[in-house]
Amino acid sequence: MAMKKTISHQTKNVSDDRTMRREDETTQPKLSASSTIENVEEARRVFPFVRQNLRTVYGLPQLEKNLDPLDVLIETILSQSTSNINSQRAFAAFKQRFPNWEDARRARPATIEAAIRSGGLARQKSLVIKRLLHDIKAQRGSLDLSFLRHASLAEAKAFLSSFTGVGPKTVACVLLFACHRPVFPIDTHIFRIARRLRWLPEKGSDADAHQLMEQIIPQEHFYEAHINFIRHGRTVCRPQNPLCEQCCLVDYCHYYQNQF
Ligand code: SF4
Repeated sequence: MAMKKTISHQTKNVSDDRTMRREDETTQPKLSASSTIENVEEARRVFPFVRQNLRTVYGLPQLEKNLDPLDVLIETILSQSTSNINSQRAFAAFKQRFPNWEDARRARPATIEAAIRSGGLARQKSLVIKRLLHDIKAQRGSLDLSFLRHASLAEAKAFLSSFTGVGPKTVACVLLFACHRPVFPIDTHIFRIARRLRWLPEKGSDADAHQLMEQIIPQEHFYEAHINFIRHGRTVCRPQNPLCEQCCLVDYCHYYQNQF
């Protein structure tokens, strides 16, 4: 099944508020030593206002049903270090060339590389995808990842994290978008905004950042927050010359308060 929209723009079907599985509270991570309890508590306090302001501007995105976990995994790998348009184009071309992932698993890396060339870094990504498909088949006996919807969250994370080229963001995208599990993916836009809001420290690992954001944002709002932060980062809170005068988060932004 080809995804019709980018993983960051899945905007149809049932609300994530109702479909996302709640997990055992004991799975919540401990605070990172690189951030203070006060920062997290303040971020938790203002999150409802931030969410509402973003929703007013960008709307309420809704999780798409029935996405295939392997589709999302491969699309997320293709999205690394390239634009949305390029990765969408590469994924569509890949699916057209290989409607069946088993055929892609058997293909030569050069054939995969040719199919995803429009996405950039095709050589490296073809090798990652080829190895990924091989390793999944070797571990599971098939390329069906639907078990991730029902495995424990720790097992699902450990399984995906075990593959070369699959980092915390990719793990979170697969589990949130395709499995409706409570995991918060952080992309470059979310990192930037969260640091400007001072929800995340300037330095720290990706894994720590994912854990901190999952402490700040209630899990029923993971999808909405992920999508709307990205929309905000693309249009207003840009890397250079952010449009602070137009920003709906200005009242909560330390970057802005330090600038003006
Ligand atoms: S006020 Fe400026 S820096 Fe802060 S979130 Fe808004 S656009 Fe970004």
